[in-house]
Amino acid sequence: MSSDVQIIEKARAERRTILTEMESKQLLTSLGIRTTEMRLAPSREEAVALSREVGYPCVLKVSSPDITHKSDAGGVKVGLASEEQVAEAYDAIMSSCREKVPGAAIEGVTVQNMAPAGLEVIVGMATDPQFGPVLMFGLGGVWVEVLRDVSFKLVPLTKDDARSAVTEIRAAKLLEGFRGSAPVDKAALEDILLRISDFVAKTPEVREMDLNPIFAYPDGAIAVDARVILGE
Ligand code: ADP
Ligand code: MG
Repeated sequence: MSSDVQIIEKARAERRTILTEMESKQLLTSLGIRTTEMRLAPSREEAVALSREVGYPCVLKVSSPDITHKSDAGGVKVGLASEEQVAEAYDAIMSSCREKVPGAAIEGVTVQNMAPAGLEVIVGMATDPQFGPVLMFGLGGVWVEVLRDVSFKLVPLTKDDARSAVTEIRAAKLLEGFRGSAPVDKAALEDILLRISDFVAKTPEVREMDLNPIFAYPDGAIAVDARVILGE
């Protein structure tokens, strides 16, 4: 069995429709999409031990099948520069998540390498009742939240679809470099869209995907957060 199928079967066996960030990123890795390295720490001590392996600065995020919007629950701490900061972040994440989402099952935290800042973009997949799977591309932050500046393409995407998905958003100029910054690697973003398209075309049980954000760089792109939702 390929690993994307194994990850989905495991969630099914546990009667879950929402894959954790860790599972979602393992799935992306199996599709050839770059993500941050991450390890699960079930305790404060293990979080500290793993942070030594991952190196500093690192990121801690709550891992819970019941918490899908991790920052809203106080479940994300970035830029942790030492063992002490990791230990404090672990405690802060646990107490905030217990308070904000009472009763949530918490597996622990994931310890991740901190991806260098890049231009934040998002790739999403949703299932339209009429048209079936649709992919969405946009820039992160206000561009998507306030201006709803996104493009949509029906699965399966052609190479031309992927190219126009990236270039037809209103803010596409930002991809060409902004205030002296180098242009981002549009081919890497198109490649992500095509890999997701291939995957969802052959995996109809996936109902929704969110790669939010992806950090885009002059050379490559990396998914920093991911969520996959299966149909009932
Ligand atoms: P949420 O569940 O709230 O969407 P995210 O995993 O997207 O949580 O984390 C919130 C923000 O923290 C991201 O938008 C990103 O800016 C930053 N972030 C998260 N993980 C990393 C990472 N590994 N490296 C760098 N920045 C990160
Ligand atoms: Mg996110």
